[in-house]
Amino acid sequence: MRKKFVAGNWKMNKNFQQAEELLDELVDVVSAKAAPDVDVVVCPPFVFIEMALDICRDEQSRNVFSIGAQDVSAYTSGAYTGEVSAEMIASMEAEYCIVGHSERRKYHGETDTTVAQKVELLLQNSLTPIVCVGETLEERENGVLFDVIKTQLTDGLFHLQPMDFSHIVIAYEPVWAIGTGKTATDKQAEEMHKYIRSLIEEKYGKEIARKTPILYGGSCTPQTAPSLFAQPDIDGGLIGGASLKADDFVSIINSFGK
Ligand code: PEP
Repeated sequence: MRKKFVAGNWKMNKNFQQAEELLDELVDVVSAKAAPDVDVVVCPPFVFIEMALDICRDEQSRNVFSIGAQDVSAYTSGAYTGEVSAEMIASMEAEYCIVGHSERRKYHGETDTTVAQKVELLLQNSLTPIVCVGETLEERENGVLFDVIKTQLTDGLFHLQPMDFSHIVIAYEPVWAIGTGKTATDKQAEEMHKYIRSLIEEKYGKEIARKTPILYGGSCTPQTAPSLFAQPDIDGGLIGGASLKADDFVSIINSFGK
């Protein structure tokens, strides 16, 4: 059985007080209501990571959920004003980091080459990369969706040694579904997840392919999550908008097996 996994990507939302309120609420609902067999990750903006880690620690000093960053620098350290390094994220005791999100690709020049550099640095610092891939609507309509995903995986990830690849989480996020309210159908999502797993199997073998978590992302809601998560190759979700409401997020976490 593969791990079930739900990650929330807050993007650039909430001020300090609002973030604190949401984290307090999330800790309450996740500890009281969330299925214990699901790995839950919350990825707030960098400036709230320390607060998130403080708030989400329970009485036994265990984290109610894990904390991740939304991006990382492709450089190790030095004169890169405004950048945040993998070492910095790891030293705060966050555990995950999103890489290659379509918004970073679109607005900040992220490429498969920078994805590959960032993944290397995250792994060197024992952080788990959540690597996003996805096609645009135009690419889907032109019938090149599978080629696009294959290139993103090949250039961004398939240089890794099998041992390193086994620490990767993949998120399939069709660009046309992100923040648009247009969720991929179960069939569209499963078709791509299955294809991604077949590429991993071709490159790394059956065992690693079987174990790699592949998440779906793109307007996933408490309504759409149950049937998406019931697909054989969908292991959970990367959730944007719906992760900003504690009740919606916990409903999505509890969507497995519904
Ligand atoms: C995302 O940003 O990763 C995402 C999936 O956003 P949304 O759920 O809002 O579409």
